Amino acid sequence: MLKINPYNFDPLADKAPNRTKWQEIPKHHRLPANTYSGHLDLRFHTITPVFIPSTRTSDVDKKEVQGRPGQYIRTFFRFHHNGEKPTIPGTSIKGMVRSVFEALTNSCMALYAGNYGHKNYGAATYNREKCNKEQGLCLACSVFGTTVEDKLHLQGKIMFSDAVCEPRFLETGEWILKELSAPKPERHLPFYALDGFALSSGPRGRKFYYHHNPEEVSSTPEHITKEGHNHRNVKILERLKAGATLAAKMNFQGLTKEELAALLYVIELEYRIEEVDNKKRIVRTLGHKIGMGKPLGLGSVGILVTGGTIQKGNERYRSFAPQGSTDLRAIINEFRKEAPRPSDHLRDLLSLTKYKHGVIEYPNKQRWFDVPGNETKRLGEWGEYEGKQDESSQKDSLESTISHHLDYGIILHGRIVELSPNFLIIETKDGALHQRKRVAVQGIKTKKIVKDLEVTLKGSAVYPRSMIKK
Ligand SMILES: [Zn+2]
Repeated sequence: MLKINPYNFDPLADKAPNRTKWQEIPKHHRLPANTYSGHLDLRFHTITPVFIPSTRTSDVDKKEVQGRPGQYIRTFFRFHHNGEKPTIPGTSIKGMVRSVFEALTNSCMALYAGNYGHKNYGAATYNREKCNKEQGLCLACSVFGTTVEDKLHLQGKIMFSDAVCEPRFLETGEWILKELSAPKPERHLPFYALDGFALSSGPRGRKFYYHHNPEEVSSTPEHITKEGHNHRNVKILERLKAGATLAAKMNFQGLTKEELAALLYVIELEYRIEEVDNKKRIVRTLGHKIGMGKPLGLGSVGILVTGGTIQKGNERYRSFAPQGSTDLRAIINEFRKEAPRPSDHLRDLLSLTKYKHGVIEYPNKQRWFDVPGNETKRLGEWGEYEGKQDESSQKDSLESTISHHLDYGIILHGRIVELSPNFLIIETKDGALHQRKRVAVQGIKTKKIVKDLEVTLKGSAVYPRSMIKK
């Protein structure tokens, strides 16, 4: 089975962003006749579970978990002012939309800024330095705004409201993400650097995380990354379910036709409406990603415009479309036709069916990074990194990966179904398979363990059945 790295890059275009002269954002009463203003009602649909971490200290339990310094317990993001309902903040939505918008429109890399970890990948050498007043603004900076060295804040032309979630869409549990640690570009240099060797050669492109199989993500009780073994983990206690819907609003003012067209394309991406038994449903081919846990498949969402108004110039009382009317859909579709289309790479990175081509997981430390000669091996063009592997080596890889995982103190009740010199696999009553390092087993002398013994164990490395049975 082909192995696919969880992230890959959309290569940068050869040419610099097409910049336009910076202009003050026009006030509403004197909007140029050839610009568009209004608002859009947006409906978000979660394709896999979503987790946006709370940043309030009262929501972050800083007590050490099982004596692991730096491991935090996190809950979902909330605001006091919306009645403590779980919320996806508008700033997160803006960031998510912007990253795709930048790639689609060959804009500067404002979100990227040339740094991964503590290393600078020389984005500036690729004409992707951030825009400023003198140089002019790329399409993304014009639409979303930009900040120049904390001195100058160029306001964007759009604003997203928060998306407030109905509590029924929240599920509670315990999931562990090895997610807070910074990316390790030193180790991944051949993956990140344009020439595969030197930071100074520039970045390989814009980084995106592939979408995972929604069913596998939804049914997996815990997620643990297969990379890194430091202690900076986060334990999450709640997340938005797959299949949740949330509403948000986007206000915009003074957008050019080109800007609005690209924006409308990026927000909705590509989908079609299918009608089955008189019921309409949306079939998506591309999706967005938001929040924490992207390498593990969390955060896949789709957006649909369900209403709003689009006005031309300052005719503020004469909208193109009354709220929710079918005219609006026709107008949006007309704009979308004018938008650039994603490159094959961007399409691949946003594809909701990428997982059908292989197993999406990080290269394993022992079987990849510690193998002599691998330090210069590059990521394949489509994110593949090892080519074909037979099943036994895949299993070895899984086992050596788990040997680095830690015991988080969750009690398991189950039956031992497989033993190896260093590991055991336990099947719990719900049919899930849990693989444990033998040294993590407490209170039991592991050399005496035999098959079919009923056991109570401590540990937490839980894998979906499909990964172990391969
Ligand atoms: Zn820019």
